Amino acid sequence: MILYNSRGAKKEEFKPYEPGKVRMYTCGPTVYHFAHIGNLRTYIMEDILEKYLRYLGYDVKRVMNITDVGHLTSDADTGEDKMLKGAKREHKTVMEIADFYTKAFFSDCAKLNIKTPDVIEPATNCIPEFIKMVEALLEKGFAYEAGGNIYFDTSKLSDYYVFGNQNEEDLEVGVRESVEEDTNKRNKSDFVLWFTKSKFEDQELKWDSPFGVGYPGWHIECSAISIKHLGEHLDLHCGGIDNAFPHHTNEIAQSEAYLGHEWCPHWFHVLHLRDARGKMSKSSGNFLILSLLEEKGYDPLVYRMFCLQSHYRKPLVFTFETLDNTKVAYEKLRRRIAALKREGEPDLAAAEPYRESFRAAMDNDLNSSLALTSVYDVLKADLSDATKLWLLEDFDRVLSLNLTTPLPEAEAPKPQDDPAAAEIEALIEKRTQARKNKDWATADAIRDQLREKHVVLVDTPQGISWHFEN
Ligand code: AMP
Ligand code: ZN
Repeated sequence: MILYNSRGAKKEEFKPYEPGKVRMYTCGPTVYHFAHIGNLRTYIMEDILEKYLRYLGYDVKRVMNITDVGHLTSDADTGEDKMLKGAKREHKTVMEIADFYTKAFFSDCAKLNIKTPDVIEPATNCIPEFIKMVEALLEKGFAYEAGGNIYFDTSKLSDYYVFGNQNEEDLEVGVRESVEEDTNKRNKSDFVLWFTKSKFEDQELKWDSPFGVGYPGWHIECSAISIKHLGEHLDLHCGGIDNAFPHHTNEIAQSEAYLGHEWCPHWFHVLHLRDARGKMSKSSGNFLILSLLEEKGYDPLVYRMFCLQSHYRKPLVFTFETLDNTKVAYEKLRRRIAALKREGEPDLAAAEPYRESFRAAMDNDLNSSLALTSVYDVLKADLSDATKLWLLEDFDRVLSLNLTTPLPEAEAPKPQDDPAAAEIEALIEKRTQARKNKDWATADAIRDQLREKHVVLVDTPQGISWHFEN
């Protein structure tokens, strides 16, 4: 499979460290608020990636953290503590907030058919692992103590800006814009591994450590959790593009300094969802959540399809008009599939070229929108219904759009979706007109025609209904 790698900034063949096995890590949510549909875009595209790797036969182990401590409103370690901010807003404890929004996040994931990762690890479960790593970094000379906090010394690395698109000046801008500059840092790009001196006197969660009572920095969480569950060689690390710097850059710095070798060669970043006001973000308050879409009558899978219709490396602009178009397309697609008959055996040889084009799309840097066109190609193809259904089930192992799940009664296929049924409907309509016009000869002729087609007509108060003879 060819996949774009942010580390190196090019498309390349994805090769795991151990053949046949993929160790995959995804940055999980900071649980101080609902995930917005921008966050969910990232999780949907990561889900597609995971499922496609499984489809290719890889044995995937996927780990996700839950950030319930340490994430400040600026990713460069300044600003307010996000969890504390959430707790104050709702007059609850940090752990109550974490528990509530973690459940809400996985409930959204379930509605979007996002598979639950093999391991979900809240940061607050791993304090000993963070301490162990910080101690080792101090011992190796990659970290220093200043003003009570422990910092990572980025000047010890020859290549800190691994993703290439950041420089000291960009960071200076970031520092100027943030609430206050941290004068403890030796270099502007240094970051906190362990806080003891927090300006938040009411910081609820604190742990004892060799460096003093305090709490971990956000970046150390993902490195330590990944190494705990996936070992020293990670194959694939994922997140939204805003995570590339400083979060992922810092993860690489500290993990590779700690391990003494390359840690993760492949980095997968999903571009942002925006709307008319710009990037969707929790902290700016400019966001939409999945339950709002549900309240407005959208099936969550319509939003999943909306995301699949565009490439993960392009920014995606959300409007209700485009979502409406996807809704119409999704409902029509489901009805067309529901009209297929489950009869006979699939012809696997005839199916193979369609699988190949699906795979070719996905192999080319996860081109999900092209993969979706394979669904339409199958529906249009000269294949038996059984073969079509077999192919759609196969693709849906990755797309997860419930393509072949039976429709609820109210949405059952409309007769016009089935050409044979549409012809019968037209004949019945003609016969009703003939009867209205007292043209009994035509009405009887049509009745005979329908009998030949084994159609039984039933008079009901709502008009004539029909079914095939048993
Ligand atoms: P957070 O809960 O803020 O830690 O973010 C969870 C995930 O969503 C991270 O991978 C972020 O990079 C990603 N993310 C944040 N904002 C957006 C957005 N507007 N569009 C897509 N992904 C986003
Ligand atoms: Zn992370």
